[in-house]
Amino acid sequence: METVLVEDVLHRFLLERAGVRGVLVRLGAAWREVAGRAAYPAPLRGLLGQSLAAGALLTGNIKFDGALSIELKSGGALRLLFVECTDQGRLRGLARWDEPLPDPLDLAALPGAVMAITIGHAERGQRYQGLVDLRHAGLAESLEGYFGQSEQLPARLLLAADGEHAVGLMLQKLPGEGGHGAEPDEDGWNRVLHLTATLGAEELLATAPEQLLYRLYHEESVRLFGPRPLAFGCSCTRERVEGMLRALGRDEVEAALAARDGEIEVTCEFCAQRYTFDRIDAEHLLSASATAQVPDTTQ
Ligand SMILES: [Zn+2]
Repeated sequence: METVLVEDVLHRFLLERAGVRGVLVRLGAAWREVAGRAAYPAPLRGLLGQSLAAGALLTGNIKFDGALSIELKSGGALRLLFVECTDQGRLRGLARWDEPLPDPLDLAALPGAVMAITIGHAERGQRYQGLVDLRHAGLAESLEGYFGQSEQLPARLLLAADGEHAVGLMLQKLPGEGGHGAEPDEDGWNRVLHLTATLGAEELLATAPEQLLYRLYHEESVRLFGPRPLAFGCSCTRERVEGMLRALGRDEVEAALAARDGEIEVTCEFCAQRYTFDRIDAEHLLSASATAQVPDTTQ
């Protein structure tokens, strides 16, 4: 018997008659892993879950190497929000905030807020970055504006998250007059928007992906593509932490060693992996940096 994935999965689909393509993401364990990493206040937990679902959604219709991230920074109580989905479907995310946090969280009201979507490889420097105009309170509306501009295609996004699940649905009107049927279907997009408008956050969160699509669009001949699995995953490594310590410099590293009885412990904020370094490790990585930093003029 074939196992049907109903959680931590991305589905692409086509509403052929209406000329609309879509992506549906449903996160379970992958989201709970991220949500459980800090004591997030409810409005921020909701926004982080929506962002994580959105990050995965945005990978649905593009070919890319590396990772796609959504990053929000502001001078307000929500200082930072970051989510990432790799080309292998690995998801991670976190947020940093100060109390009191406004409830509800209105993106347009955050002072000095900037939201960027970045696609590519950080190390190789091959990156595309676009800014999201934060004129709307909600993330879904803000991203709809981004799509309208960057892809020149009308888009509709629905995002919802609670403590258990984070779900995102994205619809895009395909270029052209309408569907792929014999007769042009000029009203297809409006019809699909109308069907989608009946969908509330509760139903979005409670319904398995295939069931949801057929319930909403059964009259629109849904063509569902094979599911892509998603999972929580972190890209931190001991080598990257060493690189960070090297960048801090000898004085900082020695001060940290002295303050903590000769041991430095670094904990990854995304996955809680701990990396420890004693004096010998520290000496090794600092001397390795001395060698690495000598300009290569001898050969
Ligand atoms: Zn990590």
